[in-house]
Amino acid sequence: MDVRLGNGFDVHAFGPGGHVTLCGVDIPHSHGLIGHSDADVSMHAVTDAIYGALASGDIGQHFPPSDPQWKGAASAIFLEHAVQLARARGFSFGNVDCTLICEFPKIGPHAQAMREKMAHLMQLDLSRVSVKATTSEKLGFTGRGDGIACIATVALVSV
Ligand code: MG
Repeated sequence: MDVRLGNGFDVHAFGPGGHVTLCGVDIPHSHGLIGHSDADVSMHAVTDAIYGALASGDIGQHFPPSDPQWKGAASAIFLEHAVQLARARGFSFGNVDCTLICEFPKIGPHAQAMREKMAHLMQLDLSRVSVKATTSEKLGFTGRGDGIACIATVALVSV
């Protein structure tokens, strides 16, 4: 059995707007997230974790922010590309775990919908997809409410 682990990390700053998109779920908030795409920080972290497990670069190499075609793009495009790349190389997904780091919005009430969205996009059983959240105890940029960070881990398995 060939097991590959990958990690991903991403940050997006708050800016003008009325909702944030996390794991493909729109969550009402007093601010939006700034980004070239839809700024889905959690989907970006999971996508990068997959590329990491494959030793295949990062999301910025596959989808350069300088390329206007990705402006405002739904991040599901990026995630689905990484998932397809993994499957094309003969891997299936052991599990996905991502942790959002922010004071607001509160993630808990939306975590189940986020899991379901990610599981659907990745064609995985819900039991293989974890979405959880923590704060940084009001310390640092996430503590000040400047933005949202996310870390993700993915396990790929080939038999
Ligand atoms: Mg990003």
